[in-house]
Formats: sequence, C-alpha cells, structure tokens
Amino acid sequence: NNTYISIGTDVTSRNLTEIELKKAKEFAEESLKAKNEFLANMSHEIRTPLNAVIGFTDLLLETNLSAEQIEYLKTMQNSGNILLSLINNVLDLSKLESNKLTIEEIPFNLHNKVKEVVKLMKIKADEKGINLNLIIENGTPTQVKSDPTKIGQILLNLIGNAVKFTNEGSVILTVKPLQEEGKIRNVYFEIKDTGIGIVSNKINTVFGAFTQAKSDTSRIYGGTGLGLAIVKKLVSLLKGTIKVESVFGKGSVFKLTLPLKQISKQVSDDKLNLN
Ligand code: ADP
Repeated sequence: NNTYISIGTDVTSRNLTEIELKKAKEFAEESLKAKNEFLANMSHEIRTPLNAVIGFTDLLLETNLSAEQIEYLKTMQNSGNILLSLINNVLDLSKLESNKLTIEEIPFNLHNKVKEVVKLMKIKADEKGINLNLIIENGTPTQVKSDPTKIGQILLNLIGNAVKFTNEGSVILTVKPLQEEGKIRNVYFEIKDTGIGIVSNKINTVFGAFTQAKSDTSRIYGGTGLGLAIVKKLVSLLKGTIKVESVFGKGSVFKLTLPLKQISKQVSDDKLNLN
C-alpha cells in the first residue's frame, strides 16, 4: 500500500514512517488553519467597506434622480449584494471548516420555521411562475429543541437552489417524522423539484466547495458553488444526514434527516420568538 503525499513540491510515493506521517498531518492541519484564518480575516475586512457602499447606494436611490442614474445605481446595488452574499458564504464556510460555528440549541416551533422559510422563497417561485408547496405530514413534532437559525439556513439554501434550477413545474418541501422503537428520533425533510437535474457523473461533487454541476451553470443561473458545501457542513454540525438523487433533465430530490429533540411540554406560539 503506497501512500502518496505531496508537501510543497516534494512528491513521494513510498511507505511513510510514523514520524513522517505525523509531520505531514501537522503540516496539512496548519495549512488548513492558515487558509481558514486568512479567508475569515479577508472576508471580514471586505464586508465592512462593502456594507458602506451598499448602504450609501440605497440612500442615494431614495433621492431625486434621473431614470438613467437610477438604472446605474440599481446595477451597483445588485452587484454589491451579490458580492456581499459571496463574502458571507466564504466567511461561513471558513468558520465551519475551522469549527468556529457552534450549535445554539433553543426551543422553537418547527412548523412555523418551515412555513417562514417557504414564505420567503415563495416570492422567488411566484416570479418564475412555478409552484412552491409545503407538506407537513401528521405527527411531525411542533415544539422541538435545536438550532433554528442553522435549520433555516439549510432549508433556504436547498429550496433556493430548487427554485433557481427549476424553470417549470414545482418545488415541494415535505416534512415528516421518522420513528424508531415507537419514538420520534429524527425529522425527515425532502426538497423535490422538476428542474434541470444534475448529470450523473457530477452528482457526487455538488457538495464540494466551488463546484457547479455544469460549467455554464454560473453564467446562466448565477451562484458560486458554495451553498451546498455550507449546507453539508451545517448538517454534519447538527449530526444529520443529507443526500441527493437526480435525473438529468427531470429534476432532483434532496433528502435530509435531522435529529430534533421533541419537547413534551408544549410552549404556546406567542411565547416563542419565531422571527
Ligand atoms: P450554486 O447554486 O451557488 O452554484 P451550490 O453549492 O448551492 O452552488 O450548488 C452546487 C451546484 O449543484 C450548482 O451549481 C448546480 O449545478 C447543482 N445543483 C444544486 N442544487 C440543484 C438543483 N436543485 N437542481 C439542479 N442542480 C442543482
């Protein structure tokens, strides 16, 4: 069993000694740490001035302007927002890779959370003329304890992609309980679309950072290839699982399970912060 290892330009293909292997591992870990720190610092430094650019563009748009000036400013505003979401994604991913994001478990209403996400995405779906449906199956726990912000981020990414890559038909989010020995152990989420689908030889790569299933995807649909990498990290942080099945040209199904602690004591909705 040859171990291939590359340190700088030195590539060896012989069996490594314990010490060499340890050193190589340390080197790899340090490089990863340095990369993540660099990305986190850079994105943070870029975000502050960028927010000022976007903020003042928004303010300028509220003043008396000609149609031409409004058009130019809207392009600036749009480009600024795209850049901001890219920077935010890089920041999220570097935090996730360096284990800087932690789970903040709080009690929340799962039904309301998924409804809220669907409502947000419905605007986009309506614009494209496609249906966005939500099915919450009987027995799905209402009051659960987990990290609602991270669950929202995961679902927004998956539904966002489904809507983005679907030009006609529908996107359906189904939520149902998964029982084990008579007890609800997990909640299952399925995001099914009738979109462009993913080519079979690319299906295993879509969860990697900066990967897009087709080389022309970003030109046609926009995006950076970071969303699913973030989703995968968030899901593993929450100790869940995610997989995708797809038929090219027909549509895709993303299947997600999350362990959600059901709270026996029912908390009334108005006592919860659902925003
Ligand atoms: P982005 O959407 O920003 O390109 P993602 O990491 O979210 O990046 O997705 C990676 C790639 O996976 C996309 O570029 C696209 O090729 C493919 N993909 C993701 N979701 C879907 C979907 N629902 N239907 C078809 N292709 C998808």
